[in-house]
Amino acid sequence: MQTLLRELEAIVGSAHVLTQGDLSAWTQDWRKRTHGKALAVVRPGNTDEVARVVKTCASYRAQHPESAVSIVPQGGNTGLVVGSTPDDSGQQLVLSLHRMNAVRVVDGANLTMTVEAGCILQTVQERAQAAGFWYPLSLAAEGTCTIGGTLGTNAGGTQVLRFGNAREQCLGLEVVTPQGDVWQGLSGLRKDNTGYDLKNLYIGAEGTLGIITAATLKLYPLPKAQLTAWAAVPSLEAAVTLLGLAQQHLSASLTGFELMGQFALSLVAKHFASLRVPLYAHNAFCVLLENADSESETHARQQLEGLLEVALEQGCVTDAVVAESLAQAQALWQIRESIPLAQVQEGLNIKHDISVPVSAMVAFVKDTDAQLAQAIPGVRLVNFGHLGDGNLHYNVQAPEGHDAAAFLRKQEPQVNTIVFDSVMAHGGSISAEHGIGSLKVGHLAHYKSPVALQTMRAIKQALDPLNLMNPGRVLADSSHAFGETEPVDKGL
Ligand SMILES: Cc1cc2nc3c(=O)[nH]c(=O)nc-3n(C[C@H](O)[C@H](O)[C@H](O)COP(=O)(O)OP(=O)(O)OC[C@H]3O[C@@H](n4cnc5c(N)ncnc54)[C@H](O)[C@@H]3O)c2cc1C
Repeated sequence: MQTLLRELEAIVGSAHVLTQGDLSAWTQDWRKRTHGKALAVVRPGNTDEVARVVKTCASYRAQHPESAVSIVPQGGNTGLVVGSTPDDSGQQLVLSLHRMNAVRVVDGANLTMTVEAGCILQTVQERAQAAGFWYPLSLAAEGTCTIGGTLGTNAGGTQVLRFGNAREQCLGLEVVTPQGDVWQGLSGLRKDNTGYDLKNLYIGAEGTLGIITAATLKLYPLPKAQLTAWAAVPSLEAAVTLLGLAQQHLSASLTGFELMGQFALSLVAKHFASLRVPLYAHNAFCVLLENADSESETHARQQLEGLLEVALEQGCVTDAVVAESLAQAQALWQIRESIPLAQVQEGLNIKHDISVPVSAMVAFVKDTDAQLAQAIPGVRLVNFGHLGDGNLHYNVQAPEGHDAAAFLRKQEPQVNTIVFDSVMAHGGSISAEHGIGSLKVGHLAHYKSPVALQTMRAIKQALDPLNLMNPGRVLADSSHAFGETEPVDKGL
């Protein structure tokens, strides 16, 4: 191993091969569920160095078949499924893309921008805006997560309804393959039917098929106005009806539709008394709507108010407010973004990031709520999420007064089975936007179709026969253990 480390130092410089000191920023996952052990943290500065690091590791593996050296690509380490930290073996290299953070080019005429994988998402948004454009991918971790990580996980966030996941917002990639070759696929083309779509293999692969080193992203013209409304709705059915109305009235201007359950909002009111949560006390749900208008603020306001008038008349909205200023809009979004933190204050709960077709959402929630209530009387449900995408964070909290940690330890398997079986029965997915990592590998093996799993294994075997890239993630691999510690709740 020492020879390998010396070779890596020769490639990236000894200052960028870390083996000593506190490496927990790279070896511990964001929720602090696991703490792995890295052979080293390697921080290449450019694509050529990434390629040489991978080639060196591949040839070490070929010369030392007994060795289990492998590579874990890492961006901001904000992933929520333990995908970007090493296992317990001490034989995995964390390959951090952080130093590769250049914006290579902004092409205004083509509405694209090419950035390196280690660019922070918020920096990309700001650089796009400074050039007069909009890169709309947006999520609460945007100040820390990287473009490589958002593509590795095919991240979603709050604007998927209009612009799609990270996948839909990407036109081209540069990738270092498990053999250490560079695939130069940084195309800004919107049309290119020349065979298999390689880009879409790497996006969402969670670093198991190769290392994304740069990406060409789609840009959009900046909207003239972005208005936010908060609407109280009497039921989930009413929220789904409101979504349909909003899509009809606002069409492509509807860029956000976030659902928040009454219990979730009551936790915000309880734990963050300084935030004034409007209209939740007598309504089962509230909805945040965002209207991004390309004409003017007046037009945006007319459209939004027109929609709410119709919704009030039809009874799917009982009351509503439209933010009068940017500060008011930010305050409303802050309530939405405080739900995860309010959950933390309330105590550990069992989290699910699921999706079902919007048309099945009401039946899914009704059936699953009923099964859980029967299995665990008094159980409380913290429901919130991106209803416009059929994506719900369906989190299960212990009955009032129960020990939250004991509830998690005792009930998690039963609760997961009820929720995931119900998701499948309603045509959904057990992971909507966070991915599989190592945390959900067992669930994927259980719930994904055997044909799909076989095809995924065939792709992995063909592209990475040495199993060098992030083994034990996405696809089960019993030779990798991710020592789980007592979870610390960070609320997502
Ligand atoms: C507060 C908070 C809010 C969040 N909100 C959302 C949300 O609304 N929607 C959502 O979808 N997700 C959300 N997430 C999780 C989301 O997955 C991450 O924020 C983000 O996509 C990961 O980016 P990262 O740079 O931190 O990647 P990391 O955590 O470092 O890595 C994530 C995965 O991608 C792989 N990877 C990283 N870089 C590369 C690369 N260059 N090439 C290949 N593979 C790579 C890693 O190996 C790992 O498997 C949230 C997380 C937090 C902490």
